[in-house]
Amino acid sequence: MVRAKTEESPGADRPDNVEKAIVRLTDAHKIYPLGKTEVHAVKGVSFSIERGDFISIAGPSGSGKSTILNLIGCIDVPTSGTVEIVGTNTAGLSDKAITTLRHDVIGFIFQSFNLVPVLNVYENIEFPLLLGKSRPDKKEKAEYINFLIEEVGLTDWKKHRPNELSGGQRQRVAIARALVTKPQIVLADEPTANLDSTTGEAIIELMKKINRELETTFIFSTHDTAIVEIADHVIRLHDGLVIENKKNDRAEANTV
Ligand code: ADP
Repeated sequence: MVRAKTEESPGADRPDNVEKAIVRLTDAHKIYPLGKTEVHAVKGVSFSIERGDFISIAGPSGSGKSTILNLIGCIDVPTSGTVEIVGTNTAGLSDKAITTLRHDVIGFIFQSFNLVPVLNVYENIEFPLLLGKSRPDKKEKAEYINFLIEEVGLTDWKKHRPNELSGGQRQRVAIARALVTKPQIVLADEPTANLDSTTGEAIIELMKKINRELETTFIFSTHDTAIVEIADHVIRLHDGLVIENKKNDRAEANTV
């Protein structure tokens, strides 16, 4: 089994990193200024996500899903309250530390895939490694990229560019790309929004398989109720508030 990276990441040397919670929001609020008024997008949200969770942040459009994913992804900070990632409170960090935390701990998947059109499948997956400070061993790097390509079922498509792939295949590339830095957490904002329902379900099932195999924590947002059911843990939002935080029976069965 190839394990997700847990060493040399921000927070890895902290005693609270050994606890199960990999993400913790405590009374988090997010208020966006909007002209002369403001939008209270997240209204005092508290929850924790355990290491290895496969969790859906669910709710209708405008309920605050993207805002919460941006807080967890260190793309934004709460107006008040705290967001802790691997035991580190994101509010107290410098821009440099935030960038390191984001690069080392989190992988991102986007609804519009965000692949580089001129790069082929292999090169797109490799791309995040060119941005980081560490320069992994060439052979190990190639082996891991090829392993990920196999994991997402694209072995025969390695040399193809995004415009030669279906939407589902593009999202598979994006999943492999999110995993290439061996993040502890993968964040996916509406990863199935641009896919038909069957392809969308297959993508979530693939993420779940990888969650089991690599023990990577997956957090994805969706407004699609069928997709929500595949998650082990669901946090349901409405109008900036958590209205439900439940673990599916299957997940409880799995933890026994
Ligand atoms: P969802 O992802 O569930 O659709 P969002 O988190 O995108 O919800 O948005 C929650 C609320 O915050 C919405 O009312 C949205 O219009 C508002 N909002 C989101 N981002 C901004 C922003 N940058 N500036 C002002 N309002 C925003």
